[in-house]
Amino acid sequence: MQLFDRLGDSYEEVVVCHDAPTGLGAIVAIHSTALGPALGGTRFYPYRSEDDAFEDVLRLAEGMTYKSAAAGLDLGGGKAVIIGDPRQLKSEALLRVYGRFIDSLGGRYITAEDVGTSQADMDVIHRETPNVTGVSRSLGGSGDPSAATAYGVLWAMKAVLEALDGVDELTGRRIVVSGVGKVGTALVRHLVEERAHVMVADVDDDAVARTVTCIGVDAVPVLDAHAIECDIFSPCALGGACNEKTIAGMGCRAVVGSANNQLATREDGLRLADREILYAPDFVVNAGGVINIAEELVGYHRERAYTKVRRIGETTTRVLTIAAKQGITPAAAAEALADQRIASIGTAAGRIRTFRRR
Ligand code: NAD
Repeated sequence: MQLFDRLGDSYEEVVVCHDAPTGLGAIVAIHSTALGPALGGTRFYPYRSEDDAFEDVLRLAEGMTYKSAAAGLDLGGGKAVIIGDPRQLKSEALLRVYGRFIDSLGGRYITAEDVGTSQADMDVIHRETPNVTGVSRSLGGSGDPSAATAYGVLWAMKAVLEALDGVDELTGRRIVVSGVGKVGTALVRHLVEERAHVMVADVDDDAVARTVTCIGVDAVPVLDAHAIECDIFSPCALGGACNEKTIAGMGCRAVVGSANNQLATREDGLRLADREILYAPDFVVNAGGVINIAEELVGYHRERAYTKVRRIGETTTRVLTIAAKQGITPAAAAEALADQRIASIGTAAGRIRTFRRR
């Protein structure tokens, strides 16, 4: 990768940390601090190459800028990756060196958990720096953000139903949830409480069996989940659920899920629109987790945090309204909303804002 070409003028700072004794190789990408310190998780992953790791951290950091801006948070976008297999490489010493590295950034970047890192890891990092969220409740944290993410998806679904039919009732609605991990399972519980007709799919048969047995919903084949006739298809697994092939066979009226990067390409937003399938942009819908952990920065209070997460419903409505009025896709409308907030509230990129925990 020609790193400086790739960075262009889009990123404020990209920092690398290497510590031979512990095997730590980490990259922090700060995309923007225009709205506040850059918050985003640390992904611990065995990348095939350093280029792959750089590409991932850059893409994810940019995504966090948009997610926090659209959610109305006073936070910028950043992300970190640690290269390696967490099962083999992770140690207290490595996490503490990493914590000191985060601390050296002076609050320009605040970390959290992501793929390959856990709340317990954040607690270790917290011993070296205050610039970490997603720590245990005993340390003043909010714990695993998945429940808050699922709650936000629920409110986005209500907004989408209101846009489609003028009523936000979930009773009797047919909803297919693809991916019943931490977020998917919590979402299914909410939907069942709201008396929706829920169907679930997952590549992990045990996860499906657990959900079917414990919550009492129907299972559908994972490869055909997108094709089931339903009101909402909810991708809650990996990215790319909406691609040229799946969109052609989709049986839903709307797509509303927690997965990051649901559109495989930008054109897939247009493909969904062509099929008159309403798409609620992923980074608007799945912001519940970041909204929840952002509350740690001012002293976590669950009720206040969840009140803010519920507003994802209003943001979704706003995005869909802009899209309808301007004849653009919801994804483009969400980006425009985020850009507008950065331009009107944020300072120019490069004017670094840092966070100091009081
Ligand atoms: P998870 O790892 O707990 O669950 C993912 C589930 O998806 C697993 O059960 C897995 O078996 C299943 N899966 C994998 N590939 C699949 C496929 N092709 N089809 C169907 N199922 C498949 O992850 P999670 O924390 O529940 O997150 C789910 C998604 O939401 C991810 O894309 C994540 O990036 C995104 N997200 C999560 C949060 C959060 O707070 N956890 C916040 C924002 C976004």
